[in-house]
Amino acid sequence: KKRVLRSLIGKRAVSLDGKEIEINANIGHPADIALCEENDAGGIGLFRSEFLYMESQDFPSEDFQFESYRDILQKMAGKRVIVRTLDLGADKHAPYFKLPHEDNPAMGYRAIRICLRQPDIFITQLRALHRASVFGKLAIMFPMITSLKEVLEIKKVVALVKCQLDEEHIPYSKEIEYGIMIETPAAVMATDLLAREVDFFSIGTNDLTQYTLACDRMNASLSELYDPRNLSVLRMIALTVRNAHKAGIWAGICGESAGDLELTGLYLKLGVDELSVSPASVLEVRNKVLHTDSREVDDSMLNLYTV
Ligand code: PEP
Ligand code: MG
Repeated sequence: KKRVLRSLIGKRAVSLDGKEIEINANIGHPADIALCEENDAGGIGLFRSEFLYMESQDFPSEDFQFESYRDILQKMAGKRVIVRTLDLGADKHAPYFKLPHEDNPAMGYRAIRICLRQPDIFITQLRALHRASVFGKLAIMFPMITSLKEVLEIKKVVALVKCQLDEEHIPYSKEIEYGIMIETPAAVMATDLLAREVDFFSIGTNDLTQYTLACDRMNASLSELYDPRNLSVLRMIALTVRNAHKAGIWAGICGESAGDLELTGLYLKLGVDELSVSPASVLEVRNKVLHTDSREVDDSMLNLYTV
């Protein structure tokens, strides 16, 4: 088995009916980059940037972040790296943030909500990312989006950062892609509008499953209910991909379910453009794609108009 998988290194993931899908890796630490290379990931589909904050005793400086992002981009040698901006709160904490105690932290003050309310934190990260962008192929992704308004606010902050850098004569790539995570039902239902404002969608099925099914992803006693294969979750994905393609942008999946081999065929059939999985799963998913004919996959239950 292992030898079969190793033989897929360097191959593209094209299904029997000719659908190609990009397979990237999810990582949370620069030390994991070696695993991406070893498993021949196309790039990094989700780099969780929280490590920078959780390993520091205080807010990480712009220069510290810049050096870290630069090293990552250089190590990936031109392969695309999608860095997700700060997604702290809920299950992830850093004490110096002094986040208030909340009864429902998963639905509380976290991620993009912190970034938009404390723009100095956000601007520092965005400046560091833009400065690093000249060292490789960078995409920036924003987590926990629930409305068009947030995306418009984010775009204003990005424009401000670019303006600052221009004035300071600091170079940044003009080819950065900007995307959002689709991981709340609210975002899914606004995908027609959101798709006009960004370059890509990445569906976070971990949170999307949690919020769609009103089922805490951390609660092991509910694991039977917490199901990314649930019809409603799959329909959310179908709608998201359809609206992405209508607007001419790509849509991927970066939650754990991207590596669920029982869903690979359906994701292919829906036209998902990219899957981002743990590095150790890259070749397994590629193997699955190569052996799948998406025309044989039954997706009738997903038809949005025949409930
Ligand atoms: C997700 O929610 O699916 C996701 C990829 O992000 P995280 O697991 O970091 O919340
Ligand atoms: Mg998430």
